[in-house]
Amino acid sequence: MFIGWAKGERFGCDGKVQVHVEIELKDTEHGPALSIVGDITRGRGWFECGQIQDTIRDMLKKGEFIKLKVPREDLEKLLDIWDRWHLNNAVPYCPHQAAKAWELYRQGITDYDDIIKVPEMAKCPVCGYRYGSKWWYEPIPPDILAWLKDFIAAHS
Ligand SMILES: [Zn+2]
Repeated sequence: MFIGWAKGERFGCDGKVQVHVEIELKDTEHGPALSIVGDITRGRGWFECGQIQDTIRDMLKKGEFIKLKVPREDLEKLLDIWDRWHLNNAVPYCPHQAAKAWELYRQGITDYDDIIKVPEMAKCPVCGYRYGSKWWYEPIPPDILAWLKDFIAAHS
């Protein structure tokens, strides 16, 4: 999906760069699995690719987009969904630890060694699961799933 053109300065590029995002919703035995990757290119030059949502967010904030092909508010919503639901089929927390895990992530606590110091992460009070010992599937909320499908259909 083509997101738009932006100034190339931050990438050391004189002209415009193109920003693309690929959103994949793959059916799994548990439900849809979301994967999002982006890339920033000019011609055959690649400046950034993969998990570039922070770069895109910063470009938006600093007014570096010359022309957006999707509404700005939709792009902002997509970036938030990207942060929260990318690879929802492989999360390291059990369903009971999800809220606490995201509270920690938002505080910048993302290292396993730090997370596991939190008692409810070391041992879930409900099911006894130890954070990080397997991958779980976390269902995407229906309203977010519906929004994503509409967004993909509208822009592909
Ligand atoms: Zn649990």
